Amino acid sequence: MNKIGNSMESMDIENIIHPYTNLYKHKTKGPMIITRGEGVHVYDDDNKQYIEGMAGLWCTALGFGENELVEAAVQQMRQLPYYHQFTHKSSHPSILLSDKLKSIAPFDASKVFFAASGSEANDTQVKLMWYINNAKGLPEKKKILSHVRGYHGVTVAAASMTGLPANHIDFDLPIKNIGHITCPHFYRNAKPGETEKEFSARLASELEERINMEGPETVAAFIAEPVMGAGGVVIPPENYYENVQKVLNKYDIMFIADEVITGFGRTGNLWGSETFSIKPNSLTCAKALSSAYLPISAIMVDSDISDLLTDQSKKIGTFAHGFTYSAHPVCAAVALRNLQLIEERSVLEHVRKISPTFLKRLSVLKDHPLVGEARGIGLIGALELVADKSSKKPFNLKQMVGFQCMEYANSHGLIIRAIGDSVAFCPPLIISNEQINQMFDAVEKALDDTEHWVNKNNMRSEI
Ligand code: PMP
Repeated sequence: MNKIGNSMESMDIENIIHPYTNLYKHKTKGPMIITRGEGVHVYDDDNKQYIEGMAGLWCTALGFGENELVEAAVQQMRQLPYYHQFTHKSSHPSILLSDKLKSIAPFDASKVFFAASGSEANDTQVKLMWYINNAKGLPEKKKILSHVRGYHGVTVAAASMTGLPANHIDFDLPIKNIGHITCPHFYRNAKPGETEKEFSARLASELEERINMEGPETVAAFIAEPVMGAGGVVIPPENYYENVQKVLNKYDIMFIADEVITGFGRTGNLWGSETFSIKPNSLTCAKALSSAYLPISAIMVDSDISDLLTDQSKKIGTFAHGFTYSAHPVCAAVALRNLQLIEERSVLEHVRKISPTFLKRLSVLKDHPLVGEARGIGLIGALELVADKSSKKPFNLKQMVGFQCMEYANSHGLIIRAIGDSVAFCPPLIISNEQINQMFDAVEKALDDTEHWVNKNNMRSEI
């Protein structure tokens, strides 16, 4: 027993470095402790019920308390709780999972590499690009481009590709050979009078200029999320990825699709790449791959990449990359069962059926005095809160208006996520129509509370 703490809260405060938390504020605010979950609901240690409007961290696709996944884990734990894939070893669950993933991939996937998290997988993507270009005799072709506000994880290379200042400041990132291009957010970044198509075309020509400025022979790959999640839920404008893909093809630059959030149904298709006509050379998935019941991620690569990996490892004597938990058999067994359940229960069809309710309830909120933009697709969306709707003027970020809205939502039994002054929604894919309505009833109350708080504190006059 910990000597210092006499309650779970104080022990937490004393002991834990919380990810993505103001560690100073945590000393007084303390933790929100979740003790159990059932369907789309979680319960805190006072047994208060919440709709998990973020599916945890965009991941519990099948919701909480899914016994089939528990059973898959228990069975595999009994059979073989751990094994690895180094030096020609393997185990059945990962072999079957690789076959399943290849059969549903949105491109001609040749081989699968497993890891435990999105960050590990995306760090691996960078290393693969470097490795294969060395194999090709193109040692200069090493740069990776990504979006400003793109999110690709927190390990050294992945955090470098992440285009958010907080992930770089004081971590001495980004590393060299990583560059960021304009975020395709029409509401914020389009020029006055520009249509979505014109905006897309302009960004694609900016990308081409950037590639030429860097030197096309130095750019290996572009990594992007079909829908940007942790950067604030940015849905690409019309024709964006078609235009981008043309530029990349012209300069022989690989497209890495980061489908960590969008994979397995989130946008209304199995893959975001399908929704936005992306033909990747390589793809990262995680999160909904196992509904997050256990940590597992996967990279799928095309045959050009896998052939190069094979040839180069022959030359060197090994492919010297891999994690202790790559293709962990229990994680793989749970992921396999999860993918089967998504099919057996027609989860994709369910998402398509209920998405119109989600999008309708989201879009009517653009009439709220606080909401500048309501954006969404499938079962993912966000509201961007602004101080002035007509000029799109934001609040001072220090006022933490988004955070306050999130707190009000909590008080109304809903967990959402504030990303700056955007509040994000990404419920479990199994959410019902009725629960979507309950969710947005709580959002409306939270917005009204926030508006009241903004007015009471005269926050619009401060900007
Ligand atoms: N890529 C994307 C698109 C993500 O959303 C995330 C996590 N939110 C990651 C990568 C990193 O995944 P992890 O937190 O599992 O390392």
